Amino acid sequence: MSLLAPRAHLLNGLNAEAYRRCIAEGADRVAARIAGVQGPFTGITPERLAPTIDAVDLDRPLHDPSAALDELEETYLRDAVYFHHPRYLAHLNCPVVIPAVLGEAVLSAVNSSLDTWDQSAGATLIERRLIDWTAQRIGLGPAADGVFTSGGTQSNLEALLLAREECKTEDPAKLRVFASECSHFSVQKSAKLLGLPADSVVSVPCDRNKRMLTVALAHELEKCARDGLTPMAVVATAGTTDFGSIDPLPEIAELAGLHDTWLHVDAAYGCGLLVSLKNRPLLDGIERADSVTVDYHKSFFQPVSSSAVLVRDRETLRHATYHADYLNPRRTVAERIPNQVDKSLQTTRRFDALKLWMTLRVLGADGIGELFDEVCELAADGWRLLALDPRFDVVVEPQLSTLVFRYIPQSIADPAEIDRANLHARKALFASGDAIVAGTKAGGRHYLKFTLLNPETTTADIAAVLDLIAGHAEQYLGDSLVRAS
Ligand SMILES: *Cc1c(COP(=O)(O)O)cnc(C)c1O
Repeated sequence: MSLLAPRAHLLNGLNAEAYRRCIAEGADRVAARIAGVQGPFTGITPERLAPTIDAVDLDRPLHDPSAALDELEETYLRDAVYFHHPRYLAHLNCPVVIPAVLGEAVLSAVNSSLDTWDQSAGATLIERRLIDWTAQRIGLGPAADGVFTSGGTQSNLEALLLAREECKTEDPAKLRVFASECSHFSVQKSAKLLGLPADSVVSVPCDRNKRMLTVALAHELEKCARDGLTPMAVVATAGTTDFGSIDPLPEIAELAGLHDTWLHVDAAYGCGLLVSLKNRPLLDGIERADSVTVDYHKSFFQPVSSSAVLVRDRETLRHATYHADYLNPRRTVAERIPNQVDKSLQTTRRFDALKLWMTLRVLGADGIGELFDEVCELAADGWRLLALDPRFDVVVEPQLSTLVFRYIPQSIADPAEIDRANLHARKALFASGDAIVAGTKAGGRHYLKFTLLNPETTTADIAAVLDLIAGHAEQYLGDSLVRAS
């Protein structure tokens, strides 16, 4: 190797051909993997995979991208979890659309950073157009703004930061945030990061459909006032992570208005309805929010990460503004230079917006909406299957695309034993690699969960996976009888 060899890896005009070859070969390998994938997972354990990764000598480079790709087949690609597979039914992960993957390849090669105009140019304007587009779909009005974030967790944190700063109360110990018992844990994490007391997040109970009980919210808000505390924010969830349930947004908006409280709508999951051709009305009321979280990487079929926080009043974003002489000096505001860092919790920031841009330009909003509608319909079919099947108990009829259910053997009444059978079935399924399902709790008991975000999954896949689950659970209960005797 000559001393100049490392330069051969820099992406510049001289090496444009090497870049082309490299990316093409990488794309070939991934395409071959995805075309040939047998199941969503090989079922490998961390113990069996770790030696392969530990054996890699990081101080001895291969000097050859093809050789590095060969190695990657063993360390990663062979045993990755493939969300593209129709029997990956576990978490809120989606298969990705090709225009977005193309955007990803472009944005990392050009490597714009969205903190300032002088590091991004058109990229900043593209991001701003997409923020406006999303705010318009929500109906936030003419003063709306927002910024792309790393995910729903950061979006919720920023929204609650703005809510706290807009709140007149000085004493953080007096602030209360209201969110349903099914809201995302990032609400609590945000409260902690914002220095709020441990009991600051008031958990509001849900009805049997896992939607916030507005009578309970009204009661909690009145109690808050009586106790001399300050309601800092109400968080409504439009698509709970477990049940896909949508809180009654108009009623919650009414109560938030009555108590002069910031309304945040966490639509990390439910944002897919913004482009739905059939179910957009389920989001009615979202237009009354002060801030909204949307995760395009959940229901817009975008690669991780792609997410945004939107606000009704762009002035509120000033709470995230700090000036640095080296980056965005105060005068750049007067000069009207569009520096997105003024609105963001991040500094150096990816041009994730390009993925959504490419998707809208190739597939269109209706195209995404159609895909999301398909998975919601699939969940409705899955619910009918489960409701008719005496082997299973299903919790709620889905509004979006999740199903929470559990296997209930006819012969066994002990709920703890049923818990164990369901836990076993999930583990055994994962180890087999035939399908992947998630798990959660409902009413204190262990349940299984399908999150359906793959339009290629069919009702027959769902039926087949239910049979696999029942098979593993029965096997466990049979073995358990043997153990007991
Ligand atoms: C997934 C999720 C989040 C967190 O989003 P990330 O992108 O994973 O950080 C927040 N709220 C809800 C309702 C979610 O489902």
